[in-house]
Amino acid sequence: MGELHKLPGYQVSQKIRNQEIFAEEYISQLFERIDKVDLKINSFISKNYESVLLKAKQIDKKIKNNEKLGSLLGIPIGIKDNISVLGLKTTCASRILQEYVPPYNATVIDRLEKQDAIIIGKLNMDEFGMGTSSEFSHYGPVHNPWNQEYVAGGSSGGSAAAVSSLQVPVSLGSDTGGSIRCPCSFCSVIGIKPTYGLVSRYGLVSYSNSLEQIGPIARTVVDIAMTLNAICGRDSNDNTSASSSASAGIDQQFEYKIDSVDGILGKNYKVGIIDNLIDSSEYQVKETVHKKINLLKEHDFSVHKTKINYSDFALAAYYVIATAEASSNLSRFDNIRYGFNYNPEGYEWNSYSSHVRSNFGEEVKRRILVGSFVLSAGYYGKYYLKAQKIRKIIKNEFNKLFKLFDVLVLPTMPILPFRIGEKVAKPLELYNLDIYTILSNLAGIPAMSIPAGFSKEGLPIGLQLLSNEFNEQVLIDIATFFEHKDKFNEWIPSI
Ligand code: GLN
Repeated sequence: MGELHKLPGYQVSQKIRNQEIFAEEYISQLFERIDKVDLKINSFISKNYESVLLKAKQIDKKIKNNEKLGSLLGIPIGIKDNISVLGLKTTCASRILQEYVPPYNATVIDRLEKQDAIIIGKLNMDEFGMGTSSEFSHYGPVHNPWNQEYVAGGSSGGSAAAVSSLQVPVSLGSDTGGSIRCPCSFCSVIGIKPTYGLVSRYGLVSYSNSLEQIGPIARTVVDIAMTLNAICGRDSNDNTSASSSASAGIDQQFEYKIDSVDGILGKNYKVGIIDNLIDSSEYQVKETVHKKINLLKEHDFSVHKTKINYSDFALAAYYVIATAEASSNLSRFDNIRYGFNYNPEGYEWNSYSSHVRSNFGEEVKRRILVGSFVLSAGYYGKYYLKAQKIRKIIKNEFNKLFKLFDVLVLPTMPILPFRIGEKVAKPLELYNLDIYTILSNLAGIPAMSIPAGFSKEGLPIGLQLLSNEFNEQVLIDIATFFEHKDKFNEWIPSI
Protein backbone atom coordinates (compact mmCIF):
# COMPACT_ATOMS: atom_id res chain seq x y z
CA MET A 1 0.00 0.00 0.00
CA GLY A 2 1.04 3.54 -0.56
CA GLU A 3 2.94 2.48 -3.67
CA LEU A 4 0.02 2.02 -6.01
CA HIS A 5 0.97 5.07 -8.07
CA LYS A 6 3.97 3.12 -9.33
CA LEU A 7 1.82 0.55 -11.11
CA PRO A 8 0.99 0.85 -14.79
CA GLY A 9 -2.66 1.31 -15.66
CA TYR A 10 -3.35 -2.24 -16.76
CA GLN A 11 -2.07 -3.68 -13.47
CA VAL A 12 -4.11 -1.29 -11.37
CA SER A 13 -7.13 -2.18 -13.45
CA GLN A 14 -6.59 -5.89 -12.79
CA LYS A 15 -6.31 -5.31 -9.06
CA ILE A 16 -9.52 -3.31 -9.04
CA ARG A 17 -11.27 -5.92 -11.16
CA ASN A 18 -10.07 -8.72 -8.86
CA GLN A 19 -11.20 -6.70 -5.86
CA GLU A 20 -7.71 -6.63 -4.40
CA ILE A 21 -8.12 -2.86 -4.07
CA PHE A 22 -11.00 -0.41 -4.29
CA ALA A 23 -10.94 2.21 -7.04
CA GLU A 24 -11.80 4.79 -4.40
CA GLU A 25 -8.82 3.88 -2.28
CA TYR A 26 -6.46 3.97 -5.26
CA ILE A 27 -7.74 7.32 -6.47
CA SER A 28 -7.40 8.84 -3.01
CA GLN A 29 -3.78 7.71 -2.89
CA LEU A 30 -3.20 9.16 -6.33
CA PHE A 31 -4.61 12.53 -5.26
CA GLU A 32 -2.07 12.61 -2.42
CA ARG A 33 0.67 11.88 -4.92
CA ILE A 34 -0.54 14.62 -7.27
CA ASP A 35 -0.87 17.17 -4.46
CA LYS A 36 2.69 16.48 -3.38
CA VAL A 37 4.47 16.10 -6.71
CA ASP A 38 2.72 18.58 -8.92
CA LEU A 39 3.91 21.53 -6.84
CA LYS A 40 7.26 20.83 -8.49
CA ILE A 41 6.04 19.87 -11.98
CA ASN A 42 3.02 22.09 -12.72
CA SER A 43 1.40 19.56 -15.01
CA PHE A 44 -2.24 20.04 -14.00
CA ILE A 45 -4.36 23.04 -14.97
CA SER A 46 -7.56 21.73 -13.43
CA LYS A 47 -8.73 18.71 -11.52
CA ASN A 48 -12.04 17.87 -10.05
CA TYR A 49 -11.47 15.60 -7.08
CA GLU A 50 -15.11 15.42 -6.05
CA SER A 51 -16.50 14.13 -9.34
CA VAL A 52 -13.50 11.84 -9.78
CA LEU A 53 -14.09 10.24 -6.38
CA LEU A 54 -17.73 9.82 -7.25
CA LYS A 55 -16.76 8.04 -10.45
CA ALA A 56 -14.38 5.77 -8.50
CA LYS A 57 -17.18 4.85 -6.10
CA GLN A 58 -19.46 4.06 -9.05
CA ILE A 59 -16.81 1.70 -10.39
CA ASP A 60 -16.52 -0.09 -7.06
CA LYS A 61 -20.29 -0.45 -7.04
CA LYS A 62 -20.36 -1.82 -10.57
CA ILE A 63 -17.92 -4.54 -9.56
CA LYS A 64 -19.95 -5.39 -6.49
CA ASN A 65 -23.11 -5.61 -8.58
CA ASN A 66 -21.43 -7.84 -11.16
CA GLU A 67 -22.13 -5.37 -13.97
CA LYS A 68 -20.32 -5.44 -17.30
CA LEU A 69 -16.87 -3.88 -16.90
CA GLY A 70 -14.91 -1.85 -19.46
CA SER A 71 -11.38 -2.57 -20.68
CA LEU A 72 -9.91 0.48 -18.91
CA LEU A 73 -11.69 -0.17 -15.63
CA GLY A 74 -10.51 2.27 -12.98
CA ILE A 75 -7.53 3.60 -14.95
CA PRO A 76 -7.08 7.30 -14.26
CA ILE A 77 -6.34 9.28 -17.40
CA GLY A 78 -5.12 12.88 -17.55
CA ILE A 79 -6.27 14.93 -20.52
CA LYS A 80 -4.40 17.64 -22.40
CA ASP A 81 -6.27 20.88 -21.89
CA ASN A 82 -7.21 21.29 -25.54
CA ILE A 83 -9.51 18.24 -25.47
CA SER A 84 -13.07 19.02 -24.41
CA VAL A 85 -14.38 17.41 -21.25
CA LEU A 86 -17.96 18.18 -20.37
CA GLY A 87 -18.14 20.42 -17.32
CA LEU A 88 -14.36 20.80 -16.90
CA LYS A 89 -12.57 23.97 -17.94
CA THR A 90 -10.81 23.62 -21.29
CA THR A 91 -8.41 26.53 -21.41
CA CYS A 92 -5.86 25.40 -24.03
CA ALA A 93 -3.48 27.08 -21.54
CA SER A 94 -4.67 30.38 -22.94
CA ARG A 95 -5.82 33.45 -21.08
CA ILE A 96 -8.48 33.92 -23.71
CA LEU A 97 -10.20 30.63 -22.74
CA GLN A 98 -9.55 30.76 -19.00
CA GLU A 99 -13.26 30.61 -18.20
CA TYR A 100 -14.42 28.31 -20.99
CA VAL A 101 -16.31 25.17 -19.95
CA PRO A 102 -17.33 22.95 -22.88
CA PRO A 103 -20.94 21.78 -23.06
CA TYR A 104 -19.97 18.40 -24.50
CA ASN A 105 -17.32 15.68 -24.41
CA ALA A 106 -14.78 15.06 -27.15
CA THR A 107 -15.40 11.66 -28.73
CA VAL A 108 -12.20 10.29 -27.18
CA ILE A 109 -13.53 11.19 -23.72
CA ASP A 110 -16.84 9.41 -24.33
CA ARG A 111 -14.93 6.37 -25.53
CA LEU A 112 -12.60 6.32 -22.51
CA GLU A 113 -15.54 6.65 -20.14
CA LYS A 114 -17.39 3.90 -21.95
CA GLN A 115 -14.47 1.64 -21.02
CA ASP A 116 -14.71 2.77 -17.36
CA ALA A 117 -11.57 4.91 -17.36
CA ILE A 118 -11.53 7.81 -14.89
CA ILE A 119 -10.92 11.28 -16.33
CA ILE A 120 -8.80 12.79 -13.61
CA GLY A 121 -8.12 16.33 -14.79
CA LYS A 122 -6.75 18.64 -17.45
CA LEU A 123 -3.08 19.00 -18.24
CA ASN A 124 -0.78 21.91 -18.98
CA MET A 125 0.55 22.62 -22.47
CA ASP A 126 1.80 25.32 -24.80
CA GLU A 127 -1.02 27.73 -25.57
CA PHE A 128 -3.24 26.13 -28.25
CA GLY A 129 -0.51 23.52 -28.81
CA MET A 130 1.90 26.04 -30.30
CA GLY A 131 5.35 25.33 -28.96
CA THR A 132 8.00 22.73 -28.26
CA SER A 133 8.78 23.30 -24.59
CA SER A 134 5.51 23.88 -22.67
CA GLU A 135 6.79 27.29 -21.65
CA PHE A 136 4.14 29.21 -23.62
CA SER A 137 1.40 28.56 -21.11
CA HIS A 138 -0.75 31.11 -19.30
CA TYR A 139 -0.35 28.79 -16.29
CA GLY A 140 3.45 28.80 -16.24
CA PRO A 141 5.96 26.28 -17.63
CA VAL A 142 5.89 22.53 -17.02
CA HIS A 143 9.03 21.27 -15.25
CA ASN A 144 10.86 18.16 -16.33
CA PRO A 145 10.53 15.40 -13.69
CA TRP A 146 14.14 14.31 -14.32
CA ASN A 147 15.50 17.75 -13.55
CA GLN A 148 13.11 20.49 -12.67
CA GLU A 149 15.26 23.26 -14.09
CA TYR A 150 14.73 21.79 -17.53
CA VAL A 151 11.77 21.93 -19.89
CA ALA A 152 9.44 18.96 -20.19
CA GLY A 153 9.10 19.41 -23.96
CA GLY A 154 5.92 20.41 -25.70
CA SER A 155 3.33 21.07 -26.47
CA SER A 156 1.80 18.17 -24.46
CA GLY A 157 4.33 18.78 -21.66
CA GLY A 158 1.83 18.33 -18.84
CA SER A 159 0.61 15.04 -20.33
CA ALA A 160 4.13 13.56 -20.53
CA ALA A 161 5.43 14.98 -17.25
CA ALA A 162 2.39 13.78 -15.27
CA VAL A 163 2.92 10.24 -16.54
CA SER A 164 6.69 10.35 -16.03
CA SER A 165 6.37 11.61 -12.44
CA LEU A 166 3.85 8.86 -11.56
CA GLN A 167 0.91 11.19 -11.08
CA VAL A 168 -1.18 9.29 -13.62
CA PRO A 169 -0.43 6.05 -15.47
CA VAL A 170 -1.91 7.26 -18.76
CA SER A 171 -2.71 10.58 -20.42
CA LEU A 172 -3.88 11.90 -23.76
CA GLY A 173 -1.92 14.43 -25.76
CA SER A 174 -2.31 15.89 -29.23
CA ASP A 175 0.34 16.00 -31.90
CA THR A 176 0.35 18.48 -34.78
CA GLY A 177 4.08 18.46 -35.42
CA GLY A 178 5.55 16.46 -32.55
CA SER A 179 3.63 17.58 -29.50
CA ILE A 180 3.13 14.06 -28.15
CA ARG A 181 6.52 12.69 -29.08
CA CYS A 182 8.74 15.62 -28.07
CA PRO A 183 7.66 15.72 -24.41
CA CYS A 184 7.66 11.91 -24.27
CA SER A 185 11.26 11.95 -25.43
CA PHE A 186 12.23 14.67 -22.93
CA CYS A 187 10.41 12.96 -20.01
CA SER A 188 11.28 9.32 -20.86
CA VAL A 189 7.81 7.92 -21.49
CA ILE A 190 6.03 6.36 -24.49
CA GLY A 191 3.75 8.31 -26.80
CA ILE A 192 2.19 7.66 -30.16
CA LYS A 193 0.85 9.95 -32.84
CA PRO A 194 -1.56 7.71 -34.71
CA THR A 195 -2.21 7.65 -38.46
CA TYR A 196 -4.18 10.73 -39.51
CA GLY A 197 -7.82 9.70 -39.20
CA LEU A 198 -7.36 6.78 -36.80
CA VAL A 199 -8.61 8.79 -33.81
CA SER A 200 -11.52 11.20 -33.92
CA ARG A 201 -10.66 14.89 -33.50
CA TYR A 202 -14.21 15.82 -32.54
CA GLY A 203 -13.92 18.01 -29.45
CA LEU A 204 -10.21 18.73 -29.91
CA VAL A 205 -9.68 22.48 -30.11
CA SER A 206 -8.18 22.83 -33.57
CA TYR A 207 -4.72 24.20 -34.16
CA SER A 208 -3.98 22.71 -37.59
CA ASN A 209 -6.71 20.28 -38.65
CA SER A 210 -4.90 18.58 -41.49
CA LEU A 211 -1.87 17.68 -39.38
CA GLU A 212 -3.05 16.82 -35.88
CA GLN A 213 -4.10 13.69 -34.04
CA ILE A 214 -4.91 12.79 -30.46
CA GLY A 215 -2.84 9.95 -28.98
CA PRO A 216 -2.03 8.15 -25.71
CA ILE A 217 1.00 8.61 -23.46
CA ALA A 218 2.01 5.94 -20.90
CA ARG A 219 4.93 4.14 -19.24
CA THR A 220 4.16 0.71 -20.68
CA VAL A 221 3.35 -0.46 -24.19
CA VAL A 222 0.36 -2.42 -22.87
CA ASP A 223 -1.22 0.79 -21.59
CA ILE A 224 -0.57 2.49 -24.94
CA ALA A 225 -2.22 -0.34 -26.88
CA MET A 226 -5.21 -0.59 -24.53
CA THR A 227 -5.87 3.13 -24.64
CA LEU A 228 -5.45 3.33 -28.39
CA ASN A 229 -7.87 0.41 -28.80
CA ALA A 230 -10.44 2.31 -26.75
CA ILE A 231 -10.24 5.64 -28.60
CA CYS A 232 -9.61 4.68 -32.23
CA GLY A 233 -12.06 4.10 -35.07
CA ARG A 234 -14.66 5.83 -37.15
CA ASP A 235 -16.68 8.66 -35.62
CA SER A 236 -19.53 10.17 -37.60
CA ASN A 237 -18.80 13.52 -35.91
CA ASP A 238 -15.40 13.70 -37.60
CA ASN A 239 -15.48 13.19 -41.34
CA THR A 240 -11.73 12.73 -41.51
CA SER A 241 -11.91 9.73 -39.19
CA ALA A 242 -11.27 6.42 -40.89
CA SER A 243 -13.36 3.31 -40.82
CA SER A 244 -11.27 0.19 -40.49
CA SER A 245 -12.53 -1.29 -43.75
CA ALA A 246 -11.26 1.75 -45.66
CA SER A 247 -7.75 1.40 -44.34
CA ALA A 248 -5.06 -0.66 -45.94
CA GLY A 249 -7.42 -3.51 -46.74
CA ILE A 250 -8.08 -4.33 -43.09
CA ASP A 251 -11.68 -5.37 -42.77
CA GLN A 252 -12.11 -5.57 -39.04
CA GLN A 253 -12.14 -3.32 -36.04
CA PHE A 254 -8.82 -1.70 -35.33
CA GLU A 255 -7.25 -3.66 -32.55
CA TYR A 256 -3.66 -3.64 -31.40
CA LYS A 257 -2.17 -6.62 -29.65
CA ILE A 258 0.85 -7.25 -27.49
CA ASP A 259 2.93 -10.05 -28.92
CA SER A 260 5.74 -12.02 -27.26
CA VAL A 261 9.33 -11.15 -28.16
CA ASP A 262 9.67 -14.44 -30.02
CA GLY A 263 6.49 -13.69 -31.92
CA ILE A 264 7.84 -10.27 -32.86
CA LEU A 265 11.21 -11.63 -33.94
CA GLY A 266 9.36 -14.16 -36.07
CA LYS A 267 7.74 -11.41 -38.08
CA ASN A 268 11.09 -10.54 -39.71
CA TYR A 269 10.50 -6.82 -39.74
CA LYS A 270 12.70 -4.80 -42.05
CA VAL A 271 14.13 -1.73 -40.37
CA GLY A 272 15.32 1.38 -42.20
CA ILE A 273 17.71 3.79 -40.52
CA ILE A 274 17.25 7.34 -41.75
CA ASP A 275 20.92 8.07 -41.78
CA ASN A 276 20.94 11.56 -43.25
CA LEU A 277 18.75 12.80 -40.42
CA ILE A 278 20.43 11.03 -37.52
CA ASP A 279 23.69 12.69 -38.52
CA SER A 280 22.38 16.14 -37.72
CA SER A 281 21.64 15.37 -34.07
CA GLU A 282 23.71 16.14 -30.99
CA TYR A 283 26.38 13.49 -30.35
CA GLN A 284 24.81 12.02 -27.19
CA VAL A 285 21.53 11.59 -29.03
CA LYS A 286 23.33 10.03 -31.97
CA GLU A 287 25.26 7.60 -29.76
CA THR A 288 22.16 6.50 -27.90
CA VAL A 289 20.19 5.95 -31.09
CA HIS A 290 23.05 3.90 -32.54
CA LYS A 291 23.06 1.71 -29.44
CA LYS A 292 19.39 0.95 -30.06
CA ILE A 293 20.09 0.18 -33.69
CA ASN A 294 22.81 -2.23 -32.61
CA LEU A 295 20.38 -3.97 -30.31
CA LEU A 296 18.10 -4.57 -33.28
CA LYS A 297 21.01 -5.93 -35.31
CA GLU A 298 22.06 -8.24 -32.47
CA HIS A 299 18.60 -9.75 -32.60
CA ASP A 300 18.78 -10.38 -36.31
CA PHE A 301 16.38 -7.73 -37.47
CA SER A 302 17.22 -6.87 -41.04
CA VAL A 303 18.58 -3.35 -40.61
CA HIS A 304 19.63 -1.10 -43.49
CA LYS A 305 20.67 2.49 -43.86
CA THR A 306 18.47 4.67 -45.99
CA LYS A 307 17.63 8.34 -46.41
CA ILE A 308 14.69 10.58 -46.94
CA ASN A 309 15.06 13.07 -49.78
CA TYR A 310 13.76 16.63 -49.64
CA SER A 311 13.54 16.55 -45.86
CA ASP A 312 15.35 19.92 -45.81
CA PHE A 313 12.16 21.55 -47.06
CA ALA A 314 9.81 19.81 -44.66
CA LEU A 315 10.17 22.19 -41.74
CA ALA A 316 9.36 25.26 -43.82
CA ALA A 317 6.37 23.50 -45.38
CA TYR A 318 5.14 22.47 -41.95
CA TYR A 319 5.32 25.98 -40.52
CA VAL A 320 3.54 27.46 -43.53
CA ILE A 321 0.69 24.92 -43.40
CA ALA A 322 0.39 24.89 -39.60
CA THR A 323 0.29 28.67 -39.26
CA ALA A 324 -2.08 29.07 -42.23
CA GLU A 325 -4.57 26.67 -40.67
CA ALA A 326 -4.03 28.19 -37.22
CA SER A 327 -4.76 31.71 -38.42
CA SER A 328 -8.09 30.53 -39.73
CA ASN A 329 -8.93 28.34 -36.71
CA LEU A 330 -8.12 31.01 -34.16
CA SER A 331 -10.37 33.60 -35.77
CA ARG A 332 -13.27 32.11 -33.80
CA PHE A 333 -11.93 33.48 -30.52
CA ASP A 334 -13.70 36.80 -30.65
CA ASN A 335 -15.19 36.71 -27.15
CA ILE A 336 -18.67 36.45 -28.64
CA ARG A 337 -18.91 32.72 -29.17
CA TYR A 338 -16.16 31.78 -26.71
CA GLY A 339 -14.40 33.78 -24.08
CA PHE A 340 -15.01 35.51 -20.82
CA ASN A 341 -16.83 38.45 -19.44
CA TYR A 342 -15.63 41.55 -21.22
CA ASN A 343 -18.11 44.34 -21.42
CA PRO A 344 -18.27 45.61 -25.02
CA GLU A 345 -19.73 48.92 -23.82
CA GLY A 346 -17.81 51.93 -25.10
CA TYR A 347 -15.89 50.03 -27.83
CA GLU A 348 -16.44 50.07 -31.56
CA TRP A 349 -15.93 46.74 -33.36
CA ASN A 350 -12.23 46.92 -34.26
CA SER A 351 -11.00 48.20 -30.95
CA TYR A 352 -13.16 45.67 -29.09
CA SER A 353 -11.75 42.89 -31.20
CA SER A 354 -8.14 43.91 -30.70
CA HIS A 355 -8.76 44.44 -27.02
CA VAL A 356 -10.13 40.91 -26.70
CA ARG A 357 -7.48 39.33 -28.90
CA SER A 358 -4.64 41.01 -27.03
CA ASN A 359 -5.22 38.15 -24.57
CA PHE A 360 -3.45 35.74 -26.90
CA GLY A 361 0.17 35.06 -25.92
CA GLU A 362 3.14 36.26 -27.99
CA GLU A 363 3.75 32.97 -29.77
CA VAL A 364 0.11 32.56 -30.75
CA LYS A 365 0.03 36.10 -32.13
CA ARG A 366 3.16 35.38 -34.11
CA ARG A 367 1.55 32.29 -35.66
CA ILE A 368 -1.63 34.20 -36.56
CA LEU A 369 0.42 36.91 -38.26
CA VAL A 370 2.58 34.45 -40.20
CA GLY A 371 -0.45 32.37 -41.15
CA SER A 372 -2.42 35.36 -42.39
CA PHE A 373 0.59 36.48 -44.39
CA VAL A 374 1.19 33.18 -46.18
CA LEU A 375 -2.47 33.03 -47.15
CA SER A 376 -2.74 36.63 -48.30
CA ALA A 377 -3.43 37.54 -51.92
CA GLY A 378 -0.23 37.58 -53.94
CA TYR A 379 1.66 35.28 -51.52
CA TYR A 380 -0.65 32.28 -51.54
CA GLY A 381 1.08 30.60 -54.49
CA LYS A 382 4.52 31.49 -53.28
CA TYR A 383 4.09 29.97 -49.82
CA TYR A 384 0.94 27.97 -49.17
CA LEU A 385 0.71 26.15 -52.49
CA LYS A 386 4.40 25.47 -52.52
CA ALA A 387 4.17 24.03 -49.02
CA GLN A 388 1.39 21.71 -50.14
CA LYS A 389 3.56 20.50 -53.02
CA ILE A 390 6.40 19.74 -50.65
CA ARG A 391 3.97 17.89 -48.43
CA LYS A 392 3.03 15.68 -51.36
CA ILE A 393 6.68 15.04 -52.20
CA ILE A 394 7.42 14.00 -48.61
CA LYS A 395 4.43 11.66 -48.67
CA ASN A 396 5.75 10.09 -51.90
CA GLU A 397 9.17 9.65 -50.31
CA PHE A 398 7.60 7.70 -47.46
CA ASN A 399 5.54 5.63 -49.89
CA LYS A 400 8.78 4.58 -51.55
CA LEU A 401 10.48 3.82 -48.24
CA PHE A 402 7.61 1.68 -46.98
CA LYS A 403 7.91 -0.54 -50.03
CA LEU A 404 11.33 -1.47 -48.66
CA PHE A 405 10.89 -1.23 -44.88
CA ASP A 406 8.28 -1.96 -42.20
CA VAL A 407 9.62 0.56 -39.77
CA LEU A 408 11.91 3.58 -39.92
CA VAL A 409 14.13 4.65 -37.06
CA LEU A 410 15.40 8.10 -36.14
CA PRO A 411 15.78 10.20 -33.00
CA THR A 412 12.68 11.93 -31.69
CA MET A 413 14.50 15.18 -30.92
CA PRO A 414 17.86 16.38 -32.27
CA ILE A 415 19.02 17.72 -28.90
CA LEU A 416 18.69 17.03 -25.17
CA PRO A 417 16.09 18.77 -22.99
CA PHE A 418 17.24 22.35 -22.36
CA ARG A 419 16.93 24.74 -19.45
CA ILE A 420 13.68 26.57 -18.83
CA GLY A 421 14.07 30.07 -20.26
CA GLU A 422 17.00 29.20 -22.53
CA LYS A 423 15.08 29.27 -25.82
CA VAL A 424 11.87 30.99 -24.90
CA ALA A 425 12.82 34.15 -26.79
CA LYS A 426 14.24 32.30 -29.79
CA PRO A 427 11.28 31.10 -31.85
CA LEU A 428 13.31 29.94 -34.84
CA GLU A 429 15.57 27.82 -32.66
CA LEU A 430 12.48 26.19 -31.20
CA TYR A 431 10.93 25.61 -34.64
CA ASN A 432 14.12 23.90 -35.82
CA LEU A 433 13.81 21.29 -33.07
CA ASP A 434 10.74 19.84 -34.80
CA ILE A 435 12.79 18.64 -37.77
CA TYR A 436 12.33 14.91 -37.03
CA THR A 437 8.78 14.96 -35.75
CA ILE A 438 6.94 17.01 -38.38
CA LEU A 439 7.66 14.49 -41.16
CA SER A 440 5.01 12.01 -40.01
CA ASN A 441 2.40 14.77 -39.57
CA LEU A 442 2.99 15.99 -43.11
CA ALA A 443 2.71 12.42 -44.41
CA GLY A 444 -0.17 11.40 -42.13
CA ILE A 445 1.69 8.28 -40.99
CA PRO A 446 1.97 6.97 -37.41
CA ALA A 447 5.01 7.67 -35.26
CA MET A 448 5.99 6.71 -31.74
CA SER A 449 8.58 7.91 -29.27
CA ILE A 450 10.01 5.43 -26.77
CA PRO A 451 12.61 5.91 -24.03
CA ALA A 452 16.09 5.14 -25.39
CA GLY A 453 18.46 6.15 -22.60
CA PHE A 454 20.03 9.10 -20.85
CA SER A 455 22.76 11.65 -21.44
CA LYS A 456 25.68 11.79 -19.04
CA GLU A 457 23.85 14.63 -17.28
CA GLY A 458 20.93 12.24 -16.68
CA LEU A 459 18.59 13.80 -19.22
CA PRO A 460 16.26 11.52 -21.21
CA ILE A 461 16.74 10.66 -24.89
CA GLY A 462 13.94 9.28 -27.07
CA LEU A 463 13.91 6.98 -30.07
CA GLN A 464 11.37 7.58 -32.81
CA LEU A 465 9.73 4.79 -34.83
CA LEU A 466 7.70 5.42 -37.98
CA SER A 467 5.53 3.02 -39.93
CA ASN A 468 3.14 3.09 -42.85
CA GLU A 469 -0.46 4.32 -42.59
CA PHE A 470 -2.63 2.22 -40.28
CA ASN A 471 0.33 0.04 -39.39
CA GLU A 472 0.47 1.01 -35.72
CA GLN A 473 0.91 -2.67 -34.87
CA VAL A 474 4.52 -2.58 -36.11
CA LEU A 475 5.30 0.32 -33.78
CA ILE A 476 3.71 -1.50 -30.86
CA ASP A 477 5.73 -4.62 -31.68
CA ILE A 478 9.09 -2.84 -31.93
CA ALA A 479 8.32 -0.86 -28.77
CA THR A 480 7.45 -4.12 -26.98
CA PHE A 481 10.78 -5.56 -28.10
CA PHE A 482 12.72 -2.61 -26.64
CA GLU A 483 10.60 -2.56 -23.49
CA HIS A 484 11.46 -6.19 -22.93
CA LYS A 485 15.17 -5.75 -23.60
CA ASP A 486 15.75 -2.38 -21.91
CA LYS A 487 13.06 -2.53 -19.21
CA PHE A 488 12.56 1.19 -19.74
CA ASN A 489 9.27 1.03 -17.86
CA GLU A 490 11.45 0.79 -14.76
CA TRP A 491 13.27 4.07 -15.53
CA ILE A 492 11.56 6.37 -13.10
CA PRO A 493 12.70 9.80 -11.89
CA SER A 494 13.26 10.21 -8.16
CA ILE A 495 10.70 12.81 -7.32
N1 GLN B 1 6.29 22.37 -32.03
C1 GLN B 1 5.33 22.30 -33.06
C2 GLN B 1 4.61 23.62 -33.22
O1 GLN B 1 4.84 24.46 -32.42
C3 GLN B 1 4.38 21.18 -32.84
C4 GLN B 1 3.24 21.52 -31.99
C5 GLN B 1 2.21 20.43 -31.90
O2 GLN B 1 2.44 19.30 -32.33
N2 GLN B 1 1.03 20.81 -31.42
O3 GLN B 1 3.83 23.80 -34.09
